[in-house]
Amino acid sequence: MEEAMENQPTEILLQKYNLDEEQEKKEIIRHYRALLRSLRPKLKRGDKELVRHAFEMAATAHKTMRRKSGEPYIIHPLTVAMICVEEIGLGVRSTICALLHDTVEDTDISLDDVEDEFGTEIARIVDGLTKISNVIDTNTSQQAENFKKILLTLTDDPRVILIKLADRLHNMRTLDHMKREKQLKISSETVWVYAPLAHRMGLYSIKTELEDLSMKYMEPEAYKDIAKKLAETKRERSRYINEFIRPLKEKLEASDLAFEIYGRPKSIHSIWNKIKKKAVFFEEVYDLFAIRVILDSAAEKEKEDCWKVYSLITDEYTPSPERLRDWLSNPKSNGYEALHTTVMGPQGKWVEVQIRSKRMNEIAERGLAAHYKYKEGGGEEDRFDKWFGQIREVLATHDTETVDFLQDFKTSFLAEEIYVYTPKGDVKMLPVGSTALDFAFSIHSAIGTKCIGAKVHHKLVPISHKLRSGDQIEIITSNKQKPSEDWLNLVVTAKAKSKIKDSLREEKRKIADDGKYTLQKKLEGLGAAYKPT
Ligand code: MN
Repeated sequence: MEEAMENQPTEILLQKYNLDEEQEKKEIIRHYRALLRSLRPKLKRGDKELVRHAFEMAATAHKTMRRKSGEPYIIHPLTVAMICVEEIGLGVRSTICALLHDTVEDTDISLDDVEDEFGTEIARIVDGLTKISNVIDTNTSQQAENFKKILLTLTDDPRVILIKLADRLHNMRTLDHMKREKQLKISSETVWVYAPLAHRMGLYSIKTELEDLSMKYMEPEAYKDIAKKLAETKRERSRYINEFIRPLKEKLEASDLAFEIYGRPKSIHSIWNKIKKKAVFFEEVYDLFAIRVILDSAAEKEKEDCWKVYSLITDEYTPSPERLRDWLSNPKSNGYEALHTTVMGPQGKWVEVQIRSKRMNEIAERGLAAHYKYKEGGGEEDRFDKWFGQIREVLATHDTETVDFLQDFKTSFLAEEIYVYTPKGDVKMLPVGSTALDFAFSIHSAIGTKCIGAKVHHKLVPISHKLRSGDQIEIITSNKQKPSEDWLNLVVTAKAKSKIKDSLREEKRKIADDGKYTLQKKLEGLGAAYKPT
């Protein structure tokens, strides 16, 4: 839903905002042409006409509407479509949906109209976009219900969420025109739901921008303070980055690798998080930037080349052994692949270096859409499908009425992940904070409910033991074991939580049945008849 609309006759608005109608028409056409230009490489026969048709339909429907900024409303869907194409990498169908995304909710156009003109596929996506209302609203059970809808549309067609993210991004970019109260509400919903979703879909730059924009409204003082300090220290930082890069550049040039190397500042939001989490001052945050090496390597050589670069870098600077992250061998489930290392740079400063190929970089920046592009033809297992499958499973079994559903879901599916191994060496992905008990439930609910402990790297640990990436876990079970109420505090995954609750309910029913039986026996002994109520 678009919050920033008004419904007033055009002439009044033109006077009110002192606008020139001709000027506005030109502006709209300019947006439309720019959209077509960036879509061009993706257009097949007949597509251009379809996009034009969607644009005209939306423009007519929104004709008398304006955003809070005074802009003609149609600029919003046009910009959302542009974000879909340019920043997310979506194609023609999604563009059409983006152009129409607010029509069914806010204008006379019905879903049937959309279906008649563009077919069922597009109508389904527009329907999904219409159904997602604000998550943070009135009461908690309504929140859970809205969030569940988001998840259902996500697993039904991920494009719905991608377009929704583009919509949210544009609304956040233009939030200045809203009232303070609304700014706070939309911002908190953005950090709470949309930024983690963007992250989980692999859209790193959109996630970062959403977080920074939310912070700008929710914590204006801290935001301004960090932005100012970043600007003040920029020169000094560039000098340091150049000094750090110089010897690496020489080595890379001497090798036969085609590369790009540069320093990138970290986001204001992530710096702020670090300041809060570590209770330090801005001056003490060492990783205000990261160095990035992007390689132009052939598909079959990219992994080898990344390690070659790693070796060149660590010949120059000493790496911190516990900060090596190998997402080449084990990509994150949002598709992210790269090699990260932190090395000791000049003046005794730790510096993070990220190494990846051009292909990996595109996936890192565009996430899901780029991932699908590269997947075509490749027989690689699909992490997104796996993730969607897990979400579906939880939605099907989880008691979504409960208030903790939202939190459970967030920790289960939107958190960072760790990789752990079964005794046979199969890899399992679990959210950060998972315990041995979570792992047991991830294998099978029957193993979870009978779990009495585990062996991690052959060492005995309790069921509450928190796992770390790389752990190999063997679960120990006993037929005498039964879940208890406090188990709910030992797990973080939604699957484990719902299975424990199921089995507690089952247990209560059994006790009640046993009780009835004993009572019946006693009453019979007294010569009385037992009547069930
Ligand atoms: Mn919108």
